[in-house]
Amino acid sequence: MKTKICMVCHQEFEILFRIQIEKGKKWIFACKSCVEKHQNQPNYKYGGTWKGKRH
Ligand SMILES: [Zn+2]
Repeated sequence: MKTKICMVCHQEFEILFRIQIEKGKKWIFACKSCVEKHQNQPNYKYGGTWKGKRH
């Protein structure tokens, strides 16, 4: 099973969310709890889910 590092809290996860938290900035990968911290911000954008486990 693959994992990826959350770019906000730098921990390893099997599921990450592709988000933007600043307007015009790069897409970052964030874990669920980090997404929840940012999703109420005006520049938050959701770009998909990354899963290490393939079915
Ligand atoms: Zn995180």
